[in-house]
Amino acid sequence: MEFKDFGLEQGIMEALDILGYHKPFAVQEAVIPHLLAKQDVIVQAKTGSGKTASFAIPILQQLIWNEKLPQALILAPTRELAMQIQMEFDQIGAKKRIKSLAIYGKFPFRFQKQDLQQRTHVICATPGRILDHLREHTFDASSIRYVVIDEADIMLDMGFLDEVEAVLDYLPKKRTTALFSATMPKEIIQLANRFLHDPLSIAM
Ligand code: AMP
Repeated sequence: MEFKDFGLEQGIMEALDILGYHKPFAVQEAVIPHLLAKQDVIVQAKTGSGKTASFAIPILQQLIWNEKLPQALILAPTRELAMQIQMEFDQIGAKKRIKSLAIYGKFPFRFQKQDLQQRTHVICATPGRILDHLREHTFDASSIRYVVIDEADIMLDMGFLDEVEAVLDYLPKKRTTALFSATMPKEIIQLANRFLHDPLSIAM
């Protein structure tokens, strides 16, 4: 299978080429078609498997450039991961001129507020800090229609699941949601049952 088989737009194909992504990894083959079809997924996959692009590519394909409000929210357990994901969105979305932001704790809230009020298509965030922004209504979340919960098991270990749930409660119900986790403890299954709509399970 090749990336062109997914029917991706030219700008994304060019960006993948520049990145040296010539063939999809297994997790990308498994996940991309479902997210393109707006099917919720729960994916058991490890770091290093190429999972970031497995959600970044189909989300970027479906983002509408001239919409003013953020359309995708990615939740990650750490600042480092949020930044890494944001970089991947930036790179794969470069030709499409997609703007993404990383929002995390221990960074001045008011600067983030300013950034969130500029046009941004994608927000990559740690759950605690984006929850603060949602509670303060610093940005309009009503157009978010793609949500990814990345490394859910790490968020569980770090005690972030309550914050993740609170964030999800703020988001529009009509959306596509993908959950990624290296392991599937029962708390993660419960989270998926509560917040995902008829999810398809994919194990790598
Ligand atoms: P991840 O699991 O998302 O952290 O990705 C692991 C590494 O694989 C990252 O350095 C990516 O840049 C790289 N990568 C992801 N997909 C591909 C691909 N299809 N071809 C080559 N490298 C890739």
